[in-house]
Amino acid sequence: MRVVLCVFVTGLLTSVLAAEEHVVETETHRFEEVADGVYFVSGTGAMVTRSNAMVVITDEDVLVVDSHITPAAGRALIEGVGRITDKPIRTLVNSHFHYDHSHGNQAFGPGVRVVGHEYTRHKMAKAPLEEHTFVGSSERDRQALEELRAALETVSDEEREALETQISIQAAHVESTAEIDPVAPDTTLAKKMTFFRGGREIELHFLGRAHTGGDVVVYLPAERLVFTGDMMLGGPPWPGDGWVNEWPATLERLKQLDFDLILPGHGPYFRDRELIDYVQAFHRELWEVVSALHAEGVSAEDAVERIDLSHHAENLPAARVRVDLRGVQRMYMVLEGTAE
Ligand SMILES: [Zn+2]
Repeated sequence: MRVVLCVFVTGLLTSVLAAEEHVVETETHRFEEVADGVYFVSGTGAMVTRSNAMVVITDEDVLVVDSHITPAAGRALIEGVGRITDKPIRTLVNSHFHYDHSHGNQAFGPGVRVVGHEYTRHKMAKAPLEEHTFVGSSERDRQALEELRAALETVSDEEREALETQISIQAAHVESTAEIDPVAPDTTLAKKMTFFRGGREIELHFLGRAHTGGDVVVYLPAERLVFTGDMMLGGPPWPGDGWVNEWPATLERLKQLDFDLILPGHGPYFRDRELIDYVQAFHRELWEVVSALHAEGVSAEDAVERIDLSHHAENLPAARVRVDLRGVQRMYMVLEGTAE
């Protein structure tokens, strides 16, 4: 493994982080080398990035998976890649169409091939700025900024500086949201695509519908790792655009791949494959319960009050074994044949 010296732009934590080999930290990003030349990328909190990314450096060039939530976050990611290699980024993969993984696409520029599932292309070429996920999140982000600004009126002197930092982070995020000009994948796959580049084999798999209709996982067989996007997280992912009925079978196909390490679209990476079994069990029961309520004619609003899957918190993070109204509404759409 290549040892990468720690670069931390503010310099405050240099002594702490220098002990951590294989980690490069910029002001905005943490790049952890999880296999030779393969980096798991997460945000430091100094800007709103919202989702994780992966960087794969080959002998010739660089492949990036997911571009974050805004052009500004995408630019900061690209800048960070420049700290770990001088090779050019030539390929960007979108794990799925969701705004928090793909609205940084435009930062990569026309020279970079953008790859995604056919469905991702379809969703992003249509009206991505009208997607309920993007609209809802943008609204919440604007509201959060107003609330933070209002809090300035009452904050104590000790807390003021931290609040001002938070406000500037949130304001920059809202500002960059306004410059989003979505870029859809220019190259698509239906089932599988493999890059043989610069001594590496990088496989893209569509294993079936799950978190969306076009989730792609990025599998590196030699490195025995997989980037799963939001199809598989450290607990059940949000089902509001998902196919909960098909999700367990899709995860079954994920388990056929030979890997030890899972890099998810949100949260820390993990090695515990049993989590996949637990998420499958959660989805099976969720689908059963929601289908029964739907058959009884219970409204989605009432259904969400009646669903209790808290016993899954034995094996999964408690915060993730809930389902929100949009999740139930989506499952009702799937049951009624109106989901896309
Ligand atoms: Zn997502």
